Amino acid sequence: MDKFLKIQSCERCGARLDLRIMSKMNEDIICLNCFQEERNHPYYEAAAKKEAEEVAAGNYNYRGMFAGQKYPFGVV
Ligand SMILES: [Zn+2]
Repeated sequence: MDKFLKIQSCERCGARLDLRIMSKMNEDIICLNCFQEERNHPYYEAAAKKEAEEVAAGNYNYRGMFAGQKYPFGVV
């Protein structure tokens, strides 16, 4: 979780991070604007649901349905 505390700019748009938000879809640390945009992603609900299930099952290291992929994951 070091990255979360150290990072200074959004991994998607490069904006200065006043508020750090962990993506629910991959491991990006993103700004509020990008988080709001992510929530409109066609797979956001599925990714967020999957993440909640993994955490509920004790898998706190779950990396996200789209881990290692670059937003918006090839979906337009
Ligand atoms: Zn951003």
